[in-house]
Amino acid sequence: MSEGRTQINRRGFLQLGALASAGSLSACASTTSVGLLPAPGPSRRSRAINVIFMVSDGMSTGTLTLADMVSRQERGRSTAWTGLWQTDGARRAMCRTHSLDSLVTDSSAAGSAWGCGRHINNGAVNTDPSGAALTPLLVTAREQGKATGLVTTTRVTHATPASFIANVPERSREDEIARQILDRRVDVVLGGGAKHFKSDALLAREDLSVVRSRSELSAAPGDTALLGLFRDGHMSYEPDRGEDEPSLREMTGAALERLARAPGGFVLQVEGGRVDHAAHANDAVSLVRDQLAFDDALAGVIEFVSSRDDTLLIVTTDHGNANPGLTLYGDKGERGIELLSRGRQSFDWIQSQLGAAGSREAMMGVLPLLVYQATGVELDDADRAWLHRSFVDRERADGFRAVSGFGPVLGAVLSNALGVAFLSPNHTADLVEVTAVGPGSDRLGPVIDNVDLHRLVVETLDLAPARAGV
Ligand SMILES: [Zn+2]
Repeated sequence: MSEGRTQINRRGFLQLGALASAGSLSACASTTSVGLLPAPGPSRRSRAINVIFMVSDGMSTGTLTLADMVSRQERGRSTAWTGLWQTDGARRAMCRTHSLDSLVTDSSAAGSAWGCGRHINNGAVNTDPSGAALTPLLVTAREQGKATGLVTTTRVTHATPASFIANVPERSREDEIARQILDRRVDVVLGGGAKHFKSDALLAREDLSVVRSRSELSAAPGDTALLGLFRDGHMSYEPDRGEDEPSLREMTGAALERLARAPGGFVLQVEGGRVDHAAHANDAVSLVRDQLAFDDALAGVIEFVSSRDDTLLIVTTDHGNANPGLTLYGDKGERGIELLSRGRQSFDWIQSQLGAAGSREAMMGVLPLLVYQATGVELDDADRAWLHRSFVDRERADGFRAVSGFGPVLGAVLSNALGVAFLSPNHTADLVEVTAVGPGSDRLGPVIDNVDLHRLVVETLDLAPARAGV
């Protein structure tokens, strides 16, 4: 390296990002290039009493593109999200996602940026490095008369839903997050994670209806607080979802039906959480199916907001993940999308079936048939050799060490047929898409920081700062 060349100090870079963000906030009245745009004058100021905050967790732009291609092939139309861009008044931004201590954020720090408006360290939920609790958005909203809701396909105690309601120094403290969800009285909570809710804590909430299946959800009373826990852990990937699990669209509809009755308005977070998990797994079939399930939920929400002028809808992701993309030319690419649209099961399903086979060598014997059943792809001898090397011999299978595990190697092998390749099994630091419609959306600048979305919600709803403590 030549002498005098500027060395970029990692922490300095992160601090610069935070300062630039803070600067954009304080200077927002005089600039339109970064952060939020100035609030319109009082006469022009539209009024929102509701916010619906939708998160496709870990959605790289390539994920949205793949879902859009499959949607056009299967349904003859684009996704609801890309359609939303053409709606009158829709605004879009690219959003930075770094956390306080990392260029590549995790979900808890990214969600907390929306939840409390501050950059914190990866792994924490609305808790700063000194251990101080930072008031989460739904606590503030409830204090000021809003109904609140959380809907997700992950455990409801997982990082992204937790980031709107909880304070814990470590995201893994999900029993504690469950207690906080109950104590802080979120009105509607739907998703997985039953194992974190203790029966005595549930019994203590006599006002709460608890449902455990799709049929119980549809029969639940509409005038009580509602907790739907449809799996002990995460809900199933969309390709594996059974009859007894509601879809994300159904859960979102059930939440809106109840929250829309609140006279003071509501704040609802909706998360397509397993998009992120499918990206980690390099599982293209589940990635597209879960993104399309999120898009179906979004279509329902668009119907809800289009009939009213009091709701700000924000649709975004917390970070990229694995940066998938269709990357075969011509007929091979088109054939890949066709195959992708016919996928039936997740990598999770493949692994659950493998578990019965015994030794890894025995698992390798049944793997090709399982892969065919799940994806429609027939593995050839070379594909099987790659998988054997990684899965049985435990050898490194790529120059980039991070892509040598079962999921990335199977994902890479399948890319020969599906045409979809992944960068890694990890989150990425890319700028991410934000789309907003409704009152307040006109303040979305073209380039924002994730903490700006907290401020957009708070200022649009005119929420005063929360009382001290949580
Ligand atoms: Zn995430």
